[in-house]
Amino acid sequence: MPDWRIPLSDLDYGVEEEAAVLRVLKNNWISMGPEVLTFEREFAKFLGIKHAIALTNCTAALNLSYMGLGFRAGDEIIQPAINFVSAANMTVAVGATPVFADILSLDEPTIDPSDIEHRITKNTKAVVVMHYGGYPARMADISNICKKHNLALIEDACHAIGARYNDSNGRHPNNLMVGNLGDIACFSFFSNKNLATGEGGMIVTNQDDLAGRLRLLRSHGMTTQTWDRHQRGHASSYNVVSHGNNFRFDELRAALGRCQLQKLNQKNSLRRELVLVYRRKLAALEGWIIPFNDYQGDSAYHLMVVLPPNEKDRLQAEEAMNKAGIQTSLHYPSIPDFSAFNWLKATGLEISKSFARRVITLPLFPRMTTEQVKEICSFLCKAARNKPIRMPAKKLK
Ligand SMILES: *Cc1c(COP(=O)(O)O)cnc(C)c1O
Repeated sequence: MPDWRIPLSDLDYGVEEEAAVLRVLKNNWISMGPEVLTFEREFAKFLGIKHAIALTNCTAALNLSYMGLGFRAGDEIIQPAINFVSAANMTVAVGATPVFADILSLDEPTIDPSDIEHRITKNTKAVVVMHYGGYPARMADISNICKKHNLALIEDACHAIGARYNDSNGRHPNNLMVGNLGDIACFSFFSNKNLATGEGGMIVTNQDDLAGRLRLLRSHGMTTQTWDRHQRGHASSYNVVSHGNNFRFDELRAALGRCQLQKLNQKNSLRRELVLVYRRKLAALEGWIIPFNDYQGDSAYHLMVVLPPNEKDRLQAEEAMNKAGIQTSLHYPSIPDFSAFNWLKATGLEISKSFARRVITLPLFPRMTTEQVKEICSFLCKAARNKPIRMPAKKLK
């Protein structure tokens, strides 16, 4: 692992996590069992939602969503072009077709409701939104479109655990947390997420029928689980009532997840403080865009991203930072530009393409210091001021 002076993200484990993992080891049961059940209950309570189902990862959660909703070949799922590739890959995995919609703007890189509506056909079955960086998508508009056209609404909420949704007036309609805004929401506990267990995920819904189906499909469509049989004795049999998969979670990571959930709100506030410092310090950068700078609502502050004026400035800023030991990343390349998605011949995604060419992700994690943020900002301001020096030599003659 390269030794970055300031890494992009960092784990934040303490004695609680150590004790939790040891507790599980001593219990002598490590596959799905009581810790997973408790984690699911606590997670559901945290979100104020009826059902939470723990899974191996969020990619499995997205796959399970599509399976549970019965999507198949010929179905179209509208989703943002700027996203991690999971939602699109899982669309193809169930035989359906991803239809990419553009983002609203460079300043608000979540899916554009009017472009969703524009791309609806008789084959459209669902819309997937992604709450970029922890900032909720335009859910009031999107939810209306889905109701009008009878489409399922799925939240890829990987960035937004702990965020609350506000309408365009900055109010909390029904005070809902992200995860409650569609039919199903999917979360990830991958190691760089706000709640980290290494690998892991959660699928949540308020619908009883759907939750039952998702639970069955999580574990082969079997009517009883190993844990039930273990408790009841080895003789009990089971039926298989549908063709599911094995997306089960385990006790060690559930124990980690429970600790991380306890600390989540506090860690999200730490992230918020750091983002505010970033914004104050970068405000002077001319021609740079700081997405969600004027966003009125809540966020989980998962990512801090900036857009230099053009691709060349981006490459230069990135290179300078990386040389100085500051890790950067890119969230995300535009999915239809990946070679595996060429066959879709997607068009009309100019804002997404432009965003992907310019975006840089800067370090952000709860244990980061204000000094580290300030250092990165002065670095970027210097890089931006040096601009005239980079004028082509020919022109200077
Ligand atoms: C991390 C992430 C995923 C994938 O989650 P895994 O748990 O790694 O499968 C999907 N979508 C978004 C937006 C993510 O950030």
